[in-house]
Amino acid sequence: MNYHELDLTNWGRREIRMMQDLLKAHAEKNHTVIFSGIEKIAFNQMSGYVFLVDGDFNVAIEQDGVLLDHVSCPDCGNEGTISEVKDGADCCREFLKDVEE
Ligand SMILES: [Zn+2]
Repeated sequence: MNYHELDLTNWGRREIRMMQDLLKAHAEKNHTVIFSGIEKIAFNQMSGYVFLVDGDFNVAIEQDGVLLDHVSCPDCGNEGTISEVKDGADCCREFLKDVEE
């Protein structure tokens, strides 16, 4: 099929703006080291967050115009950017030990 649609039924102006910021950051300031490329743009109606998802379900978020990985520690559930999670507990540092920012 050569025709694709992005269904924005439940997206408001705020979410559209967040998507713009994400795509701009992806194009201009992509500082991710885990995220491998956009496969989906996701909007979590529970949290209100809009983020990018790659083919391995890695998530990228926009912060101050920069695209960053969003990770969560499998042990304690601590989540955030790599530097935020690295500031967490020992399990979080262990989880991210092979990840260079
Ligand atoms: Zn942890």
